Amino acid sequence: MRIDGGCHCGHITYEAEINPDDVIICHCTDCQSISGAPYRTVVFTSSETFNLLSGELTVYIKTAQSGNKRTQNFCPKCGSHIYASNVGDGPMPYGVRVGTVHQRDQLVPKSQYFCGSAQNWVTDLSGIEKHD
Ligand SMILES: [Zn+2]
Ligand SMILES: [Zn+2]
Repeated sequence: MRIDGGCHCGHITYEAEINPDDVIICHCTDCQSISGAPYRTVVFTSSETFNLLSGELTVYIKTAQSGNKRTQNFCPKCGSHIYASNVGDGPMPYGVRVGTVHQRDQLVPKSQYFCGSAQNWVTDLSGIEKHD
């Protein structure tokens, strides 16, 4: 499936090829603090099909507790997170932030990771008061 998207301010735009079955939720504490949200939703693509159409990304290299290094690529003007990848060259998976994808209504997560650090209220929002 072809997707396109971009950051909040419009500096970054991109297109990519994805499989709608490759959408996940990550509850890890790094995703919580980097996104500022209780969890992050990601769709996987690859460096070979991800095409940056405009703008230039700023890169923050995050070191996980395991020592694993990951690049966090975001808009230098508005701070929107665009994707994460491995450090280095060559073809690699990109984890694109679903909130930046124009077709996000069609991207439903299929699995969840790091559930041990999930906020305990996220699995059931039905008891939380609703407003428009
Ligand atoms: Zn921006
Ligand atoms: Zn995570």
